[in-house]
Amino acid sequence: MNAQTTIGVLALQGAFDAHVQHLNALGVDVRLVKTDADLDEIDGLIIPGGESTTMSNLLVASGLGKTLSKKIDDGFPVFGTCAGMIMMANSIIDGRPDQIVLNAMDIQVRRNGYGRQNDSFEQDINIESFDVPFHALFIRAPIIEKMANDVEVLSTVNGHPVLVRQGKALASSFHPELVSDLRVHEIFLSMIHDSLTTSKR
Ligand code: GLN
Repeated sequence: MNAQTTIGVLALQGAFDAHVQHLNALGVDVRLVKTDADLDEIDGLIIPGGESTTMSNLLVASGLGKTLSKKIDDGFPVFGTCAGMIMMANSIIDGRPDQIVLNAMDIQVRRNGYGRQNDSFEQDINIESFDVPFHALFIRAPIIEKMANDVEVLSTVNGHPVLVRQGKALASSFHPELVSDLRVHEIFLSMIHDSLTTSKR
């Protein structure tokens, strides 16, 4: 990845530091995103896992939510993991009524979709284009209930999509930042790289 590419990691709440470590390991510049000004300095944004209702509160309180929504509407590359996937959806089942949706992807998600019994589990999953399975951690993960036809499914678990892509948006219901494998982050970096080369044409 070229040295000028800077990836932002939304750093209001949740497991943002683990994403920073992965991006550092991949040799890209990283900027923690806490204000509108940070958004101007990045080529793509990661929304981490954590608690989507708390993240929503903080996005509203800081005013960052509005600016971010606008940027996403304009096609900004974004990658959400777990709570981040929930934030990216266009509709949330079992969310809090005032929880914001960023509408970054045409998916409807059910928060805590695996229920209490299976609150957390780990599983080796097959991901499109990977030769070797990826060890995925699911922590109070959302389930995608519905999605538009042009949402590409890159991996499923028990028939549920767990890694999806639409345009410049990527979302996983698991936590690729919590294992040492960098391959899911590499998918996002190659999407950004493609979008930068396309916009320069
Ligand atoms: N269930 C959490 C939420 O609603 C997400 C859990 C996670 O990110 N590990 O935001």
